[in-house]
Parts: sequence; C-alpha cells; structure tokens
Amino acid sequence: MNDVDVMVVGAGLAGLHTATLLARNGHEVLLVERRRALDGAIRTTGIFVRRTLDDFPLAPEHLGPPIRRVVLYPPDRRRPVTLDSDRDEFRVGDMGPLYLGQAREAVDAGVRLALGTRYAGRSGGVSLLEGPAGRVRVRARFVVGADGARSRVARDLGLDRNRELIVGAEEVFAVSGPTGPPTFSCVLDPSLAPGYLAWVVDDGRHAHVGVAGYASRFPDGMRAALDRFAAAAPGVPADRPEHVERRGGPIPVGGLLRRIGCAEGLLVGDAAGAVSPLTAGGLDPCLRLSRHAAAVLDEALRTGRPDPLAAYDGAALRARFRGRLLLRSGLAQVRSPAMASAGFALLRTRVGRAAARRVLFGDRSFPEPAPVAAGARGG
Ligand SMILES: Cc1cc2nc3c(=O)[nH]c(=O)nc-3n(C[C@H](O)[C@H](O)[C@H](O)COP(=O)(O)OP(=O)(O)OC[C@H]3O[C@@H](n4cnc5c(N)ncnc54)[C@H](O)[C@@H]3O)c2cc1C
Repeated sequence: MNDVDVMVVGAGLAGLHTATLLARNGHEVLLVERRRALDGAIRTTGIFVRRTLDDFPLAPEHLGPPIRRVVLYPPDRRRPVTLDSDRDEFRVGDMGPLYLGQAREAVDAGVRLALGTRYAGRSGGVSLLEGPAGRVRVRARFVVGADGARSRVARDLGLDRNRELIVGAEEVFAVSGPTGPPTFSCVLDPSLAPGYLAWVVDDGRHAHVGVAGYASRFPDGMRAALDRFAAAAPGVPADRPEHVERRGGPIPVGGLLRRIGCAEGLLVGDAAGAVSPLTAGGLDPCLRLSRHAAAVLDEALRTGRPDPLAAYDGAALRARFRGRLLLRSGLAQVRSPAMASAGFALLRTRVGRAAARRVLFGDRSFPEPAPVAAGARGG
C-alpha cells in the first residue's frame, strides 16, 4: 500500500497543472495517467486564447504564430464575415511537446508521474491502480479527478457528472509556410457540425481541419462529416500532405458542474465540466480551475481539515455561465442550413459583428474564483 497526500488521476493539462502547483507547495503528489506517452493520442486542437497566454507561462517555443484574423462562413460559404483584431488573439499549441514540457516541470517540482497506469476504482478510501507493476493500492488524503469528460473519479466520489456532450474530430497536417495571415476559419453549417461549428486553423505551420457537434445529429456520422468538410473546407492549403494526425474526443458543453468537491477530493478540467458552453474552449478554464483547486487542497492539507473544500463550489461559479448557457441552447437549436443562413444574416449587421467580436476577441475568461485564504500560490 502506498500513502500520498494527493493522487491526481489524468495527465492532461488540468492534471499536470494541479499536480505541479501542489508539489511546489511541498505536498507529496502521485499523478497517474493511463496513456503510455503524453505526446500520443492528443484530443485537442490546442487553440489558446489571449487571456491564457497573458496569465499562464506556456513555453513560447511550443506555441505557433499569433492569429489575429477570424473568418466566419455561412453554409453556402458565400459572403463570409472577416473579423480582424489589433491584438494577438490566439496561438495554437504544439501539444505533444507542450504536454511533455509540462510533465518535466511537474517531475522537477517533485510529482511522481506514473504513465501507463489506469485508475480502476476505489473502495474504503483506497484507490486501485493497474499499471506496469500489476495492481497497486494507494491511499491518498485527497483524490483529484482530472480524468476528462467521462470521469470515473467523479462517479466514484459521488460527484456530478457531465450529461451534455458534443464530440469533435480533426485532422492536423504540417503546411509548408504561410500563404496569407494566420487565420481561424469557422463554418456554421449544421449538416457538417450539428450544434457547433466546423473549423480550419492555419497558422502557417500547421493546418487543423475539424468538425464537432451532437453525436446523434450528424446526418451520416462524424467521420463522414469530417471527410466531406476536409475535401472542400475554406482556407485549406491545396497541397495537403499524405500524413495527417487525427485527433478527437468528447467535449462537455453543459457548463461547470455544481457538485465538484467533497471531503475525499475534487474534480478539475473536463471532469468538472470546466469548458465554455458556447465556444467549447476548455484550455483556459482547466488552467484557471486547477489553480483554484490546488489552492483549496493546499489549505486543506496544511490545516489538516477538509473544510476548505467547501469553498470549491461549482454551483456558485456556474451562475456566472448563464449568458453562455443561453447562447449554447440557441446554437443547439440551429438544425438546418436554412436556419443557419438566416442566423448568419444577423452576423452581417453592425450589432451582429460587434457581438461576434465580443465573443471571439473579448477580455472575458473562465470566472476566477476568489482566492482561498493564503492559498492561490504559484501560477
Ligand atoms: C477535438 C477537440 C478540439 C478541441 N480544441 C480546443 C481548443 O482548440 N481550445 C480549447 O481551449 N479547448 C479545446 N478543446 C477542449 C480542451 O481540449 C479540453 O477542455 C482540455 O484539453 C481538457 O483538459 P483535461 O486535462 O481536463 O482533460 P484531458 O486532456 O482529456 O485529460 C484527461 C486525461 O485523463 C486520462 N485518463 C482518463 N481516465 C483515466 C483513468 N481511469 N486512469 C488514468 N488516466 C485516465 C486520459 O488519458 C487523459 O490524458 C477541444 C476538445 C476536442 C475534443
């Protein structure tokens, strides 16, 4: 039996960040990840927004060139709306090296990282792990569920679980240099992306071509939608190479879950539903919520009492998502290309363009919870 202060399940961005902050505060942290390598089976496009780039020290060498242009297309692709910002709004992470860099930082901080190790359940306060050394039991003062949208930890701790999910898939390929300004193109077409968007992000180094939507509403399945889109997507370089990396996975869009902490542990990242219901961006939310989670756990470990976990309250934060949840249900109602075209007409008006600029280039980010007493150390 191993004893640790905190066991973090899942080494995505949320788990890596939470584990690193806790270890930097002197706590004994075990981080378990079922994948054997962190630069394989990547799920995300990796678009980081300006607020994240301002507030978190991500290695610049693992970030693509800044993107200032967004082009929005209606289903027929005619008369798109182009929005330019005078600031660097987005950068696409080179996610393999970025995860490896974050893992090095975690290990340097003192985190014990166990790759190829699956969290398989919990009984009587003891967690069961299955890994290269067979079955191992771990007793942790607190367990952190950073195990993604379909969190097993959430279930085992009796916490809330994501109910509203979309699924996304994309192809990534290297491009041979810029053919224009780095551009993020989005297509509003429910026959390709029911309830969400299809996208092409080309920053001059890589092009990402993807679709996402409600799984049951793709007319001929998500794979076929992606193939159809990739064959004629706007802004896709003509000389597509043979080799493409495929990525994909579920994205929770029902908003932050209400019950994300208890005396035994808490949830971060996708496991907590920390994703913008409107844009489906989860990288900024997962870093911000992880910082809050680490501060709460630090306080609980230093005082020897679980009371600070009461401050880890999804219901209170969720209230600040009301507007975005409303817009999500609006987007979910767009069920036909004709409806999308009609909605798109609004985007062409001055008010519509201003609203789109606010969503895409605005200063809002995931609501930052109030710091916990002396907690919230590190960035
Ligand atoms: C196709 C797609 C594109 C996206 N693009 C963007 C984007 O451009 N920008 C943006 O902001 N957001 C984007 N998102 C959302 C964003 O990627 C996620 O919100 C974010 O990566 C969540 O990080 P996480 O650490 O919570 O979860 P994850 O990155 O999913 O990490 C969870 C980890 O837990 C591990 N795990 C699961 N179960 C177990 C277990 N039982 N034992 C051990 N390990 C386990 C998994 O292997 C995984 O490594 C996208 C999502 C998808 C699907």
